[in-house]
Amino acid sequence: MQEMIEKEILIRYGELTLKGENKKDFIKQLRKNLELYINKNEIKMEYDRAFCKYSDSNLESLKYIFGISSYSVVYKSSINLADIELVVNQIASENEFDTFAINARRHNKNYKMTSAQLNMHFGHYILSNFKNKSVNLTNPSLIFYIEIRDKFSYIFTQYIEGMGGMPTSSSGETLHLISGGIDSPVAANLLQKRGLHISFLNFITPPHTDKKTTDKINDIISLLTRYQGSATLFQVNYTKIMNYIGLVSNQKYKICLMRRSFYRIAQKIANKYNIKAISNGENLAQVASQTLESIYTISEVCNLPILRPLLSFDKNETIAIAKRIKTMDISILKACETCELFAPKFPITKPNRETAKALEDELVDLFKLEDEIIDNIDIIKFNL
Ligand code: ATP
Ligand code: MG
Repeated sequence: MQEMIEKEILIRYGELTLKGENKKDFIKQLRKNLELYINKNEIKMEYDRAFCKYSDSNLESLKYIFGISSYSVVYKSSINLADIELVVNQIASENEFDTFAINARRHNKNYKMTSAQLNMHFGHYILSNFKNKSVNLTNPSLIFYIEIRDKFSYIFTQYIEGMGGMPTSSSGETLHLISGGIDSPVAANLLQKRGLHISFLNFITPPHTDKKTTDKINDIISLLTRYQGSATLFQVNYTKIMNYIGLVSNQKYKICLMRRSFYRIAQKIANKYNIKAISNGENLAQVASQTLESIYTISEVCNLPILRPLLSFDKNETIAIAKRIKTMDISILKACETCELFAPKFPITKPNRETAKALEDELVDLFKLEDEIIDNIDIIKFNL
């Protein structure tokens, strides 16, 4: 008979199981991500699931790891019926319940009892060992899940929903334009969820923006770093260029020209660091500047793919995520933002490429200033 009943965390991969060829790589990346938080000797990866040592901190860390469909705190036992009974007994003693169900699964097809027989056996076991309990298969207050594998069995009462998605950093890297607003942090998190590692790009314009602005950015990136372990922020002092663009003859185009300039700079940085995509928190038609014409005119300057995970989101949907990942509280703090300061009263909502180009021709030093800025970027590293 076993001496003590061991608890573990059982982690299920979910969507990963669909990915035939790449599966090994995904599992490898998931292990790396787990190791950011959990001691590597406490993790065991299997083909279709993983186990790690049970602890409150290990359990908590799973809230930041994408690529997990669900997890459970499980009791591990031998496959010996008497040993499983001990576990079932312990769980029944520890929990308050009046109705219950047994959900047994025999993965080990050579096991001497079928799943149905196991259900019957443990149903009777509880009924005869505990008073005032009854079976309810449709809406029980406690479910005993019993999984019989080749060497061990796992008994648990709860499926906890995981973060879903793919392991962060399994799909490559993007250079993400981050502001202190609500949208771009959420967009970053959604891209992390699809397996992208995020590097951040932020434009500041001191003295118009100040420490409050940069504190917000730092706090937001610190939160997002939890999902990927480490991050790089490229922070660009954009004051000189902003002032220069401010001299343009058609003031309505200021924001459009600034955005084009942002993406030229973003592309240069991405190319320098071998990053294959640029991303942002843009949404279609949410604010005046986010029209299709605007996207068309701005993306002309950049030949890397521009990912816009929030394009079709309603603001409410974005806010719900911002609250869940806790960036909301930071985003709503008052601080001066580069774009807000610079915006004319009536920015052009339907800019066109020809006019934008003509205005850039007016600003003869623009590209030179952009080239100069590349060698003058603050590179800030974030770690857990
Ligand atoms: P957010 O809430 O992310 O600021 P928004 O709805 O306020 O988005 P805009 O301010 O128009 O929209 O910005 C659109 C996108 O441009 C942002 O999501 C972000 O990706 C990028 N962006 C805006 N300001 C900056 C900045 N100062 N530095 C880097 N990127 C920026
Ligand atoms: Mg904004």
